[in-house]
Amino acid sequence: MFKSKKLSILLIVFVITITIFAQGPKNVIFLIGDGMGLAHVTLTDFVFGDLNMMKMPYTGFASTYSNSNTITDSAAAGTALSTGFKTDNGMIGMTPDKKPAETLLEKGIKLGKKTGMVTTTAITHATPACFTAHVEKRYFQRDIAEQQAKSDLNVLFGGGKKYMEKNYDSAKKHGFEIVNTSKELMNAHSDKVMGIFAKDHMNYSLDRTSDEPSLALMTRKAIELLSKDNDKGFFLVVEGGRIDHAAHSNDPIGVIYDTKAFDKAVGEAMSYANLNKDTLVVVTADHETGGLGLGRKGYNIYPAKFKGFKAIPDTIVSKIKNDCSNMEQILEEYTTYKMSDFDKKELAAFKKARLAAKPSAYSQGGYATVKFVDMINDLAGIDWTTGDHSACMVPVMSYGMNAEDFEGFMDNTQIPVKIMNAVTEE
Ligand SMILES: [Zn+2]
Repeated sequence: MFKSKKLSILLIVFVITITIFAQGPKNVIFLIGDGMGLAHVTLTDFVFGDLNMMKMPYTGFASTYSNSNTITDSAAAGTALSTGFKTDNGMIGMTPDKKPAETLLEKGIKLGKKTGMVTTTAITHATPACFTAHVEKRYFQRDIAEQQAKSDLNVLFGGGKKYMEKNYDSAKKHGFEIVNTSKELMNAHSDKVMGIFAKDHMNYSLDRTSDEPSLALMTRKAIELLSKDNDKGFFLVVEGGRIDHAAHSNDPIGVIYDTKAFDKAVGEAMSYANLNKDTLVVVTADHETGGLGLGRKGYNIYPAKFKGFKAIPDTIVSKIKNDCSNMEQILEEYTTYKMSDFDKKELAAFKKARLAAKPSAYSQGGYATVKFVDMINDLAGIDWTTGDHSACMVPVMSYGMNAEDFEGFMDNTQIPVKIMNAVTEE
């Protein structure tokens, strides 16, 4: 009698164990480095080393072409990653025939999960929009903001006050607590929190102000809010959105420091997954930006001096007076280069550009920034093929429960399908 009771308890424990392990992950943290190709990761590893994403046990590669183009934009790429459908460049959360496609976060909501979207760009920008809205054109940012404010999401963190501000009342009506600074974010505790921390995009991580939370902090806070009193689990999407912008400017400094900041957010996700084994962490990029090439002449690259920059090149150039009289001092203060490091001809061209440079909407340093990053790229022995995106495959790295599903070659549209298959596994 005693023996069989013990046996039946053992059997129950065994069955419970099997049931737990037969089920897929309860929580999914999906992190996207916008424009973060393999060369961007490699360069960041050369400079800083010890990247969390490189400690992930499973790796793969994803193709990124869109329905309309061999080179995708962030809208079509984001739609592929959020819905599993190829669409045309420019379209957000819709198939090419303009039908809304259900996103990963909407599927999560249907499963009773809490959901969140975190980014360093404006929250209405292409990648976050693809997970939280459905519009025909990526520049319909007013419509995107309207949809987000009315959504059932629990967490929405990023920039983009200029689009979202008009919807604050609507957001409050739909239950959102709204926070605008790092400090307010730390104290937030509601079931729905909207954090808007910049007028447009948040600053590059090197130029971050104390009012702006880092991507890692936003990720940690999002996980804290989403996992609190929650037995159904959560879906969280995190974007390192400005790696792409730096790469569009062919600026290796912005790229590596924002990739490093993104990697710290990856570290937050991995720490949570370490303590909560029913968590899947997937890291990828939506596409490669810049056609970054790690080699320009000879058999060495020299990016060691990138460590020690105090601001991104565009900010540095904007601090250099038009007549360049303070250039040596600014270089000393913000970089690890000296005037004498630069090629004389190149330096003369830079000075000429600085004299003529007027700030533009995208660049405080104007054309002089282009010349400046050119000099840095040259010294480091690296180069870029384009100011746009490239068609190259991107890395996929995974960690935690069902991470093995993301090994090998895949198309970007398979990633959300694999995530949903893992989560709904019986
Ligand atoms: Zn881009």
